[in-house]
Amino acid sequence: MTPGTLYVVATPIGHLDDMTQRGREVLADASLVAAEDTRHSGRLLAAYGIERALTAVHDHNEADRVPDLLARLQSGDSVALISDAGTPLISDPGYRLIAAAHEHGVRVSPVPGPCAAIAALSAAGLPSDRFLFEGFLAARTGPRRARLAELAELPHTVIFYEAPHRIAETLQDLVAEWGGERQATLARELTKTFETVRRATLAELAAWVAEDANQQRGEIVLVVAGAPARTLDDQRLLALDQVLSVLVGELPVKQAAGLAAQLFGLKRNALYDRAQALKQAAAKNSP
Ligand code: SAM
Repeated sequence: MTPGTLYVVATPIGHLDDMTQRGREVLADASLVAAEDTRHSGRLLAAYGIERALTAVHDHNEADRVPDLLARLQSGDSVALISDAGTPLISDPGYRLIAAAHEHGVRVSPVPGPCAAIAALSAAGLPSDRFLFEGFLAARTGPRRARLAELAELPHTVIFYEAPHRIAETLQDLVAEWGGERQATLARELTKTFETVRRATLAELAAWVAEDANQQRGEIVLVVAGAPARTLDDQRLLALDQVLSVLVGELPVKQAAGLAAQLFGLKRNALYDRAQALKQAAAKNSP
């Protein structure tokens, strides 16, 4: 242990044996353990036979706790930051404290270990060379759908954390915004008794989760393949759909089809049915 260091220590996401040896040593030797929930983390430390002073650092008090923790670090104490599970700061508190430590010249050292996002990606069977960690989507349908629409053309694999009571709805939203064909992997209860890792198309996963209430329980990571590479024709079609979608929001279908036909050098009749379908889909999807 180096005095005056802020250690960022990963803890298990389920299986207690996933705590690293170094993580245990750092927790056992730290002057103070800063934890999201001190009762929860007290039990975790006890499971490893570790007794240490714990202090609470969570979303609601982090800003207030920073000065005191910095003072302790600057006086030579070592502090270990942990969260309820997995790697701190990954959809967990700690950012303000770590940023303040850097700003005040305090050494920050990671003690890596479990992270649900990386565990899910490693088992997903989807491209992992480039990926976006999106974390939790918004709880409300409108902002959630809007964010999914923004990400629809991203070519990278996307990792979501999702609450069990929202997973069915999120899968339906994904099918609506990204189509049902993409490959995706649902990773549930990783490293625990009811661990489930299933890869299928988005449409298949949505149907499976909707039908089986057991898949709507526990902790869930959803990994979805990025948008398929488009040919030039596909890109043109996509642009046409985007233009038509805007136009049918403002104009009668016939007029929208006419304007889009002019812009793309097509016949209006050829676009009428597409414009009609987009108008109906927009009406159905409006929250
Ligand atoms: N910091 C944690 C990490 O490194 O993964 C994540 C904390 S975040 C508040 C909690 C979310 O992580 C859960 O809602 C779930 O999406 C995901 N998660 C945590 N443990 C998991 C597990 N054992 N299996 C699947 N997902 C898990």
